Amino acid sequence: MSTSAGNIFLVTAPSGAGKSSLVNALLERDPGLQLSVSCTTRPPRDGEVDGKDYWFVSRERFIEMRDQSDLLEWAEVHDNFYGTPKGPLADALANGRDVILEIDWQGARQVRRMLGPVTGIFILPPSMEVLEQRLKARGKDSQEIIGRRVAAASSEISHASEFEYIIINQDFSVALNQLEHIVAASRLRFPRQAKVNPALFTSFGLS
Ligand code: 5GP
Repeated sequence: MSTSAGNIFLVTAPSGAGKSSLVNALLERDPGLQLSVSCTTRPPRDGEVDGKDYWFVSRERFIEMRDQSDLLEWAEVHDNFYGTPKGPLADALANGRDVILEIDWQGARQVRRMLGPVTGIFILPPSMEVLEQRLKARGKDSQEIIGRRVAAASSEISHASEFEYIIINQDFSVALNQLEHIVAASRLRFPRQAKVNPALFTSFGLS
């Protein structure tokens, strides 16, 4: 897969850090960004829409896609499979769109291995206590699942140093602004500017 024109942003966080809300708000503000919709074998939560939040698929279908190499990366998280379909991502990048992948640290490692330079952003909660409160307030998962997610959160957080940027989501609007700044700065990197302004770069003898 070629990343010829578009940037890839990996956004990773422990469950309950506010990642999806931040990414959804960013997508509303920035029409140049596109979300990579993952496949998952977990059942939809209330309000989640097939094809928008995730592609909800059976275990059999997921395994079929994985074995046919239709997935760029995949991982097992909280006993469910999650993966990034290759096709839509390749199309978006080829059309010069920037794509956000909301994936876990295992997927982030695989994407880096396959695609090279990407912009990794890790979202931290302001404290472990706040994270626990947020998971409980969500009220969409059983107590048992919440307990397992709290335990999994520290393991996810232990991989934060693998990411280029850290956002601490204490105040939503501050965190959203920080996310926007990271995206804006990434678009000013030399390789991207060279691709978007080929004539100018050639005229200055830059390549
Ligand atoms: P949730 O079930 O709360 O939506 O997501 C659980 C975890 O799965 C989160 O850490 C999320 O980032 C991760 N995840 C979602 N989609 C993908 C994917 O396509 N690939 C990988 N590796 N992880 C994903």
